[in-house]
Amino acid sequence: MELSLPYALNAELTHRCPLRCPYCSNPQELERRDKELSTDVWLRILEEAAGLGVVQLHLTGGEPLLRADAELLIERARSLGLFVNLITSGVGLTEARLRRLAEAGVDSLQLSLQAATPSLSDHIAGFQAFDRKRQAAALIRATGLPLNMNVVLHRHNIGELEAIVELCLSWGASRLELANTQYYGWALVNRETLMPTKEQLKAAEASFDELKKRIGKQMELIWVVPDYYAELPKPCMGGWGRISLTVSPSGKVLPCPAASGIDTLTFDSVTDRSLASIWYESAALNAFRGTNWMTEPCRSCERRFEDFGGCRCQAYLLTGDARQTDPVCRLSPHRSLISDAVTAANEARPAASGSAEAPPSYVYRGSAADRRRLLHTDRMD
Ligand code: SF4
Repeated sequence: MELSLPYALNAELTHRCPLRCPYCSNPQELERRDKELSTDVWLRILEEAAGLGVVQLHLTGGEPLLRADAELLIERARSLGLFVNLITSGVGLTEARLRRLAEAGVDSLQLSLQAATPSLSDHIAGFQAFDRKRQAAALIRATGLPLNMNVVLHRHNIGELEAIVELCLSWGASRLELANTQYYGWALVNRETLMPTKEQLKAAEASFDELKKRIGKQMELIWVVPDYYAELPKPCMGGWGRISLTVSPSGKVLPCPAASGIDTLTFDSVTDRSLASIWYESAALNAFRGTNWMTEPCRSCERRFEDFGGCRCQAYLLTGDARQTDPVCRLSPHRSLISDAVTAANEARPAASGSAEAPPSYVYRGSAADRRRLLHTDRMD
């Protein structure tokens, strides 16, 4: 099998984050600050990534702005010819910080939003962030950089789809990604609370189609499908270790951000080996390349070259065996793990969005006090 080269690198600069979103797909056990890579190691990774063929760099986290070296990394990445996208909650994005990011050459900023209604947005984020996001959006637009936004959809905000789209349009966004929740990492803890009903989803899909026509080229709208309601899996990340790679805050090289949840694999670290040697030789990255690892029904299925058997992380999280067919697939012997969760979601009454109802109760990571401490002790401006 001829090995392809990665074109995108997700650099998880830190797992620390001021927000506590219940749909967070980062691992349930976050990597600690004292394990984070140094600036020098990140600078080496960028050079090695460019040498390996990477052309797109996504600086992500957690909140990447919690790292004071973000500008330095952007500057180096740009000098290596990489396109640099920074994904942020907007918390800590002051005018001065944004100026420095722009001077460093950042190409694109992607701002997250939790809901159109400020009270619901703050409740979902577990932090009073809505006003800061509004200010961050205005600052980004004022610099002339394109404003990209993303909203993770679930039971409590999917009913506000039109209001979300109108709000992002009014903030001057040029692109809005509407991503239905993927139940990895912390999101799996809140799956029962977050999963929308079939009725909600049908209404949202119809609304999305109508909005796409109405808005036209004013703002690009992207819809990321909810795989629990699909019959066949998506080719997750374009296939395991095929087109992109992720480096975790401590240096683990992963095929995707959720893969560290697969405890049966040992992921090599950039602190021990070069990125290129890991890409080509790592046992974990080679574990699910190609089709030889597949079990039935994937092994003899004609779709195996299109979807690669679906998502390995989901197979592991739900069945305990990453070699299994993604249970989203209707041919999977474990499909009931998905359909039972969908049935349970449809039996529960959907909570309407807005402030009239009692806010949904989520299982948040850590405490609000931890988050406040984090903001006071870390530089964000
Ligand atoms: Fe894809 Fe495997 Fe399902 Fe076939 S059996 S559609 S390859 S997940």
